[in-house]
Formats: sequence, C-alpha cells, structure tokens
Amino acid sequence: MSLHAQTAAYDPDNIFAKILRGELPCEKVYEDAHCLAFMDIMPRSDGHVLVIPKSPARNMIDIDAQALAAMMAGVQKVARAVHSGMEADGLTIQQFSEPAGGQVVFHLHFHVIPRWNGMPMRSHTGTMENRDLLADYAGRIKAALGH
Ligand code: AMP
Repeated sequence: MSLHAQTAAYDPDNIFAKILRGELPCEKVYEDAHCLAFMDIMPRSDGHVLVIPKSPARNMIDIDAQALAAMMAGVQKVARAVHSGMEADGLTIQQFSEPAGGQVVFHLHFHVIPRWNGMPMRSHTGTMENRDLLADYAGRIKAALGH
C-alpha cells in the first residue's frame, strides 16, 4: 500500500513554472536558492504574497521533504516582511492541495496574507488588482526585507 493516494503528475507548463522560467511576468518580492515570492494578482487582502519552491512540486502531497524544509525559511522571511512592511496586525498562511482542497494552480505555493483586526479577507481568486498598487505593496515588503 502506498503512503498516499495517487495525484496527477507535475505539469511543467503550469503558470507558476512559467513564472519561474521567466516566460511570464510577476511582481517579485524575494528570491533565494530554494524559493521565489511574488504578489498574488487577485489578492485576498492588500499585500498578499505567494511563495513557491524552485523545485517542481505539484503540492504538499508530492513535494520532497528536504525541498519543503529548504523553502520554509523563505516563507517565514517573507511572512515577517509582509507583517512589518504592510503594518499588519497578523497573518493568515494558506496552502491548498488538489482541486478538492481548493487548489487552482498546480505548482506548490504558500499564500502569505496580511490581516488587520476586524477586516475580513476578500474571496479567493476574486478581483484582479491594479498593477501600480501591486508594485507599491511589493515595494513596502521589499523595503522590510532590506532590498
Ligand atoms: P490556489 O491554487 O487555489 O492556491 O490559487 C492560486 C492563486 O494564484 C490565486 O490566489 C490566484 O489569484 C493566484 N494567481 C493566479 N495566477 C497568478 C499570476 N499569474 N500571478 C500571481 N498570482 C496568480
């Protein structure tokens, strides 16, 4: 018996794989040897960032444990910068695996969503954000990262 039920194979033509290869643009906030972080184009709150591993993984189910561990330092670094750069009261970190779990793009990603007391999150993949605003939020987060 396998450790987990079968999932579909990784598709190297998914949107985030194309961003990693530079074939599609993104509003980048952070990059290291293991991960890339950029602004979500349909943010659930102002300053919503996605952190993705550089290694090909569909989601939490198939990623190699070492690759996951290697990217998590980046997730925390970005989370701290989102928290301070956006002057947020807190954070919501989300990860969806497989369609049943709410996943839409099939390259593993962690959502880092700044939260403010009493302010609900907007809907998932709701409204496309203005590009200048995304650049402004990215600037605040990069400044908090010291870039
Ligand atoms: P999910 O797979 O359910 O975690 O959702 C995918 C997320 O990726 C959503 O929050 C989308 O707004 C976001 N997204 C989709 N395409 C892009 C893109 N080209 N650049 C940045 N974020 C994206």
